[in-house]
Amino acid sequence: MVSRRYIPRAASRGVAGLVVAIFASIAHAAFASVPVSVDGARVVVHPGATVADAVGERLDEARGDLLAASDGRVLVPGGGAPPAVRRGGRPVRVSEVVRAGDEIALVRGRDVVEATTERLEAIPIPTKIVGTGALVTLAEPGVPGLSRVVVGALSGDVVASETVRPAEPMVLKRTIDERRKKVALTFDDGPWPRQTDAVLKALASEGVPATFFFIGKQVKAHPEIVRRVVQAGHAVGNHTYHHVDLASTDGERLAREIAGTSRAIRSASGIEPRWLRPPGGAIDADAYRAAASQRLRVVLWTVDPQDWQRGKTAAQIEAEVVRAVKPGAVILLHDGGGDRSQTIAALPGIIRKLRARGYEFVPLSRLGSVKASW
Ligand SMILES: [Zn+2]
Repeated sequence: MVSRRYIPRAASRGVAGLVVAIFASIAHAAFASVPVSVDGARVVVHPGATVADAVGERLDEARGDLLAASDGRVLVPGGGAPPAVRRGGRPVRVSEVVRAGDEIALVRGRDVVEATTERLEAIPIPTKIVGTGALVTLAEPGVPGLSRVVVGALSGDVVASETVRPAEPMVLKRTIDERRKKVALTFDDGPWPRQTDAVLKALASEGVPATFFFIGKQVKAHPEIVRRVVQAGHAVGNHTYHHVDLASTDGERLAREIAGTSRAIRSASGIEPRWLRPPGGAIDADAYRAAASQRLRVVLWTVDPQDWQRGKTAAQIEAEVVRAVKPGAVILLHDGGGDRSQTIAALPGIIRKLRARGYEFVPLSRLGSVKASW
């Protein structure tokens, strides 16, 4: 009860105090002012004001900047040291009260260079391809290198880098050690409506095996064609899901392009592909490792008549293939990717001419150093 009676009295005293304070400040503003100079300019402040009050925003404006360690560009304006403040030529704390006639001067703060951190980074394994055969084999696995890198803590810029140990390349050797007159036919970019079946028909009438490198999304669209290829006894390989350049595809996407295609072929035909042909023949260390980890052998080609070129005739395709074939040749043709009527028309001639020269057509797995499986 006692304290309740006390509260109104305290409040009324507070109100009285506030009224006095307002009058006092009006009186200060009207009748009392303190003139000082800041960097030569006249500034008037109220009594009791500090150096900081007198200097105002100039305190921030005169801060130094925070600079990048790499090229000295400004990363954070005003992110450097605060300015030095002087009164009458001597250092003064900004919390001190000013007196009339003070001459205050600011010296711009220093620029500060961002901190740097040092870290070790792996240098990726480069790829070196040697030889001319169709089968890509691993000669040297390669070793990643190591570099010491100095990085700006805020900018992330590389300030300096130094090779601690250079990378050793993965050496991929293109080989097929075949002295006998054996040759393999391969068809890329299918399955393709009508054309793949036309190729099957030409192969069947000559009794010749081949290997088809299928594109995953085509397999998904035409699984029945894949089944007919498998039922006819031909081998089926992986040509990526979207016909991508594997040398410029990395990580997750690289693995998916390959795995998705094998999965599509498996679900269409029950066959597990054993071969990967990189679109455009583009292979690097990452792509080779991805293929090997999915138990796929990488195969390119040794004979390429560029049957997909516009205006190329069946006679030209046939002549170019027959001229280029040597023992162990892997011939690149296409059953998909566009109109392949000239390729299909060239097939009987290619098969007969090469047989007439003593060549035997075999699946990829029966060429020289190419083993049937891992
Ligand atoms: Zn292709």
